[in-house]
Parts: sequence; C-alpha cells; structure tokens
Amino acid sequence: MTDADLLILGAGPAGLAAAQYGSRANLKVLVIEQMSPGGQALMIDKLENYPGDLNPRSGFDFAEDMRRQAENFGAEIIGDGVISLEKEGDLFKAVLDSGRTLRAYAVILATGATHRSLGIPGEAEFAGRGVSYCASCDGPFFKGKKIMVVGGGDAACDEARYLSLLTDQVILVHRRDSFRAQKGVAQRVLENPHIEVRFNTRPVEIRGDKQVGSVLLEDAGKQYEEPVNAVFIFAGTVPQTSLVPDIAVDTAGYIITDQRMESSVPGLFAAGDVRSSPFRQVVVAAAEGAIAAHCAAEYIDSLKG
Ligand SMILES: Cc1cc2nc3c(=O)[nH]c(=O)nc-3n(C[C@H](O)[C@H](O)[C@H](O)COP(=O)(O)OP(=O)(O)OC[C@H]3O[C@@H](n4cnc5c(N)ncnc54)[C@H](O)[C@@H]3O)c2cc1C
Repeated sequence: MTDADLLILGAGPAGLAAAQYGSRANLKVLVIEQMSPGGQALMIDKLENYPGDLNPRSGFDFAEDMRRQAENFGAEIIGDGVISLEKEGDLFKAVLDSGRTLRAYAVILATGATHRSLGIPGEAEFAGRGVSYCASCDGPFFKGKKIMVVGGGDAACDEARYLSLLTDQVILVHRRDSFRAQKGVAQRVLENPHIEVRFNTRPVEIRGDKQVGSVLLEDAGKQYEEPVNAVFIFAGTVPQTSLVPDIAVDTAGYIITDQRMESSVPGLFAAGDVRSSPFRQVVVAAAEGAIAAHCAAEYIDSLKG
C-alpha cells in the first residue's frame, strides 16, 4: 500500500521542479519540506541569471512561483522533516518528524546543501549576534556598519555586493590569491568602491562582548585584529545526505548518479546541490529535478508493469 507514487524530499528549486514534472506526468507526488519551500533560493537577493527571466526577482518571489506552479499541477507539499528513509522490497518508506510514515515506489532526494562553518573560535558563540550565513536575511541589521565577508566563491562575491548596498564599509577576506567565483561576478566585486578585498587572508578568531566586535585575521603568518560589527561567512556547502548513509558518494560526499539522476540504489534519484556536479545553481537544480522526475516516472511504470 503506497501513499504516493513519488516522494520528493526537499522543496528547493530541484524538489519543486521535480514536483511539477512528476505531477504533469500524472504521478501522485508528495513533497516533504522541513522549512519554507524554496531552499537556498530564499537567500538570493536578486536572481539575475535564470535563463529567460529578464526582470530579476528576489529568490523568495521566484521560489513562491515555483511552489505555486508545482501545486497547480497537483503536487502536495507537506511541512515536515524526514528523519529516516529505507527500502522495503520494492517500496521506499520515509519516517517524518511528526511520526507519520509514507510509502512510495520511488524517491527523489533533493535535500540540497547547507553552509559550511569555518570552525574557528567565536563562530558558534556569536551566531545570530553578528555572525551570519545569509546576507539578505541579516544584512539590514547592519546598515551603515562595518561588515566582513569571508569566502571567495559566487555566494561570497554576490553577498558582498548586496551588503555594499547597505554600507560603504565591506571587507572581503579570502584565503587564496584570487576568487573562485565566476569571472563577471568577481570583477564586479573588484571594481566596487565600497568593498575592500584582502586576498591571502584568513580569519582565526571572532571576538566580541555581547555582539561581534572584531575578527583576528592572519596574513602571511602575521596576525592582526580588525574591528567589525558583523561577519558573513560563505565558506562553501555541505551536502545533506545523512538520510542515505549507504549510497555511493564522491570524495566530497555528494551523491553520484547516472545521467538519469538515479543513484546507486534503484528507484532512488538525486537532484540539485546534493548531487555530485561541477556547478551548483538554481538553473542546474531545476533541470536535474526535471530529469529525475521524468526518469522516476519511467522507473515507476516499469515497476507497476
Ligand atoms: C547566498 C546564496 C546566493 C546564491 N545565489 C545564486 C544565484 O544568484 N543564482 C543561482 O542560480 N544560484 C544561487 N545560489 C545557489 C542556489 O540557491 C542553489 O544552487 C539551489 O538553491 C539548490 O537547489 P536545491 O533544490 O538542490 O537545494 P536547496 O536549495 O538547498 O533546497 C533543499 C531543501 O531541502 C530541505 N531539506 C533538507 N533536508 C531535509 C529533510 N531531512 N527533510 C525535509 N526537508 C529537507 C531544505 O530545508 C531545503 O529547503 C545561491 C546560494 C546561496 C546560499
């Protein structure tokens, strides 16, 4: 006895695109999301690189439209966390935080990724008190203040640019001698008069009293203290794969699939940031979600005979 044909775990861009395609393929689709639908896209200030979208919207508005589109085609989104997933014979069984159990023929894991911590003293202590991992969420609290951004990828550069709209005192520190971000994104940061870039520099400790007051930095073995009011950390992401400990992953822990998005477990598909891929973006997550749903539908058809 099944509750759905297809369970989709996570309602970020990958899960929502999969939900739309799965429902349009006439599958009964249940999507389980532990937070608000949208995933990391909710943190995007302006999504300006989604193909065909000439008027950049906030990630929030974009995600809201994806959610409505998936629901319009019949997908049901359940607000709950998935705490375990196992395969019993041909069926998958997911147990939710609420204690509810759901069974389905196939599963798409679209649980995405979460921020990587630096693991330095003061980081956990000052989380929510000047240490943040989301500029659009917490940036407005530090309007006109001195802000440090840590990282050298797309997220760090994008978010430094967003913060530079709120203050003219942004310091971007990166441990390497050049950015990992896409060239255009990095160039805009280097040309921004409100952002001071310090390469070959890494934070060693975050200090303060009730709130962040300074960061101890290290440059070529020399340490010095930089007074700041907030630290925004974008040091990469960690895939959310704890539900599937026995699945094949790459050296960084991302799920390996074939080109149909099927993992090493038959009937278990993965899409988006949780999947081993050279590029993690909304358009990639959405495309992978579509492929996963299409191939899950074929898998379910073959199972039902
Ligand atoms: C600050 C920032 C800026 C970015 N800017 C851009 C940009 O400008 N352009 C761009 O294309 N991309 C950008 N990205 C990247 C983009 O947001 C991601 O590539 C995309 O959101 C990945 O989608 P996803 O669905 O794979 O995963 P996610 O968006 O991570 O969504 C995964 C969802 O799964 C849920 N979940 C996880 N575990 C469970 C569980 N056990 N039970 C239930 N639910 C669960 C999570 O709550 C989450 O909602 C940015 C990312 C960040 C952090």
